[in-house]
Amino acid sequence: MFMPFFDWRYLLFVALPIMALSFLASNWVKRTYQQYSQVRSSSGLTGVDIARRILTGAGLDDVTIQVIDGELSDNYDPRTKTLNLSKEIALGNSVASEAVVAHEIGHAQQDRQGFFAMRIRSSLVPAANLGSQAGLLIVIAGLVLSAFTGSGIGFYIAVLGLALFAAVVLFQLVTTPVELDASRRALRLLAENGVIVPEEQDGARRMLRAAAFTYWVALFGALLTLLYYASLVFGNRRSD
Ligand SMILES: [Zn+2]
Repeated sequence: MFMPFFDWRYLLFVALPIMALSFLASNWVKRTYQQYSQVRSSSGLTGVDIARRILTGAGLDDVTIQVIDGELSDNYDPRTKTLNLSKEIALGNSVASEAVVAHEIGHAQQDRQGFFAMRIRSSLVPAANLGSQAGLLIVIAGLVLSAFTGSGIGFYIAVLGLALFAAVVLFQLVTTPVELDASRRALRLLAENGVIVPEEQDGARRMLRAAAFTYWVALFGALLTLLYYASLVFGNRRSD
């Protein structure tokens, strides 16, 4: 009844849509990446060259550039002020490199300017980690306890678990505007620093749009999961 993995409603209305959308999202990102990593940029600059030029242009010279392993593992680390670029992006001279490098520098610029949503997002990291690791386990433990003992304490434990998992939803909710803003900044930074010609803008925009979809899917998945468990916790209580 309350064990989600044996609940057909969970499989049909939660697990299946999340799996399907996650598959579509990662497929879309991979496809656009494959497409635009084949399109040479007109500037001929590599990802590292682009990064240096944009960082200088944006007054972010103190940001360190580092080449890392992995595919599309690119990120900006605000703690160490490091721009981590995957090998293909760093050494390639494609429209994909332009889009990814500029997006990550968009995060560096947010960090420098103390962008509000980014500060909130950073402060939510510990709670979101705890919520994603323990939140749902605590909900299930609470539900099991209240089913076997009939005591009210199980309900409160389950609600505590829900509150912890809500931090994950909140984190995704704040992540989305941070990512969309970084992509807006990316297109501006590319144009302002003369890295991109107008004909390439559409390709860069399509890459960034595909990446943005993955964040919407993550938000939707976390919200749907929270709603499902909340319906178990509060639905059980009503039927008591
Ligand atoms: Zn990003």
